[in-house]
Amino acid sequence: MTVNLLDYDLEGLAVFCERLGEKRYRAVQLFRWIHQKGASNFDDMSDLAKSLRDKLKVCARIEAAPTMSQHISSDGTIKWLFDVGAGDAVETVFIPEEDRGTLCISSQAGCAMGCRFCSTGHQGFSRNLRTGEIVAQLWFAEHFLRKHLQREDRVISNVVMMGMGEPLQNYSELLPALRVMLDDHGYGLSRRRVTVSTSGIVPKMDRLAQDCPVALAVSLHAPNDELRDDLVPLNKKYSIAELMQACQRYLIHAPRDFITFEYCMLDGVNDQVEHAQQLVRLIRHYSSGQVWCKFNLIPFNPFPESGLNRSFPEQIQVFAKILTEAGIVTTIRRTRGDDIDAACGQLAGEVKDRTRVGQRIARQRTFMLKSIPASTNELKEA
Ligand code: SAH
Ligand code: SF4
Repeated sequence: MTVNLLDYDLEGLAVFCERLGEKRYRAVQLFRWIHQKGASNFDDMSDLAKSLRDKLKVCARIEAAPTMSQHISSDGTIKWLFDVGAGDAVETVFIPEEDRGTLCISSQAGCAMGCRFCSTGHQGFSRNLRTGEIVAQLWFAEHFLRKHLQREDRVISNVVMMGMGEPLQNYSELLPALRVMLDDHGYGLSRRRVTVSTSGIVPKMDRLAQDCPVALAVSLHAPNDELRDDLVPLNKKYSIAELMQACQRYLIHAPRDFITFEYCMLDGVNDQVEHAQQLVRLIRHYSSGQVWCKFNLIPFNPFPESGLNRSFPEQIQVFAKILTEAGIVTTIRRTRGDDIDAACGQLAGEVKDRTRVGQRIARQRTFMLKSIPASTNELKEA
């Protein structure tokens, strides 16, 4: 069995090279070929000795999971589904914007956290992705987009770990993947532009602060423990108070001077004026003057089994105003890729539940992408 070189961060690759009897610095060349040039064929690596290339051909490969589908939304968002084996699929979403290209990456097939409003949570947990399977999503998307947009420079400027799964539940595979993203010989992304989103695994937040303090988003979704226990079952283990304190500790190492709280807007459940007021009190309690968080209100992306509805836009505005007037920077997330269910674990859920795929695909305005338009602007218009 060959090893997939996407599984290694630079240090891991250096150790691998040493085991092959090669100098460590060869790893830098190899790493740059893989991540900066998108090479998957060792024969293309012209500055590596033929003897090394021959060795690599025998024992290594550079490979992403096969793509099951690729959908493009009318707003330019692209969603890929990767077949990670045994009937599991994970999704990756590219979101083009004026000044950036964001890739939303999955960390697990399914998720064990069981949040009520999340279709990945409803699917249950299949398995952790390996480092290489996390990295492959970026490797594939970046080089695919560069080729099809005919760009030589970087297309993906930001990564958010907000696809399927709880990244901090897969910590040991996540960490090397983050290092590949940040490495100057890899994707060279700054720590501010790589965001880990978590439902609040407190001990792992502390570890991340030490090991690789990238930007942090915390899925809060409720202003009190009673409601959060119901929406995010993990709250029974790590309460809001513990979570807030963990955020404060994280800030000491964080690349930005704030943490983002994500708050999924659920009609009649957590979107009332009193909830916003409770949030203001909560944040003030932990702020001692300087507010250290921002809020991102996410309109709920509905799916039938949830029994929940999206808050009305006017209600979201009212909610945002209360937070903003209390001095808390608040944004309302634009829903992107709605027509291809690009938001949250939905299409992958349908692949698992194969009986629904046919009906669903017919209902959606989705289409397979044969060739991608030449610029990101055209992508938006496509
Ligand atoms: N497990 C991590 C990261 C993946 S989920 C976490 O929970 O933070 C990424 C974000 O999408 C989270 O804030 C999550 O709460 C939100 N989300 C999940 N399902 C959603 C839905 N149906 N509609 C809107 N947001 C959703
Ligand atoms: Fe898992 Fe995040 Fe979905 Fe909760 S919201 S079930 S933690 S993926």
